[in-house]
Amino acid sequence: MVGGLSGGTISLISGGNFQDGFIGGLVGTIAGGYMGQGGVGWAGRTAIAATAGGLIAELGGGKFANGALSAAFVYLFRESMHTTRQELKIQFRGGTKAERASVLSDLNDIFGTKRGAKMLSNTQSPLTIDLSVKNRAFVKNAPSDTIYIDLNFHPKISTDSGSIPATTRRILSHELGHSVLGALDDGINRMNNINLNENPIMNELGMPLRLEY
Ligand SMILES: [Zn+2]
Repeated sequence: MVGGLSGGTISLISGGNFQDGFIGGLVGTIAGGYMGQGGVGWAGRTAIAATAGGLIAELGGGKFANGALSAAFVYLFRESMHTTRQELKIQFRGGTKAERASVLSDLNDIFGTKRGAKMLSNTQSPLTIDLSVKNRAFVKNAPSDTIYIDLNFHPKISTDSGSIPATTRRILSHELGHSVLGALDDGINRMNNINLNENPIMNELGMPLRLEY
C-alpha cells in the first residue's frame, strides 16, 4: 500500500505542473531518476509530495489530509533512505522552455534504463546541455561535462528496422556515452559507443538497434 501511494505520488509530480515550475529557471535537477526539482528545498519537496498525495487521495475518494500525511511520510522516509542517491543538475544554454522540457523528459527516460542508471551514477553535476548549435550533436572531449545538440538534427541512420531518422533521445544516449562514460566512436567499424551505450538504451526503450556508425 505504501509503495503504491509513493509511486503514484512520484509519477504525478514528475508528470504534471511540478516540472513546468522548475523548467522555468535555467537549471533543472534529476534526482535518482524519480524526482526532479530546482530551487525547492527539502521542506518544499516534502510539501509538494504532501500536496500531490492529498490530490491523489481526493481523486480516489479519500480525505485530502490523510493522503497528504501519508505522502509526506513516504517522501520523508524515502528521502532518508536515499542519502547516497545521485542528484544531477542539468544546466541549459539556449533553447526554449518547451525544448528544455523535452530534453529533461528524454533524459528521464534514458536514466530509467540500466545503462542510463550507470551514466547517472557516473556523471558529474552539473551537466550542461547546449541547445544553441545548428545541424550537429557532439561533445568536445570524452569525457566532458557539456553536450552540444540541435534538437532539429535528425540524421538518417541504418538500423535493424531500416533507415530511420535518429531521434533526439537516441542522440542524447549516444552523446551521454561520450560525455559521461568517456566512450569513443572507435573499435570495429567505429561501433564501440553505439554497442556499449546507444543500442543497449534504445533496446530497453523498445527502439531499433543501429547497425552502422
Ligand atoms: Zn559519437
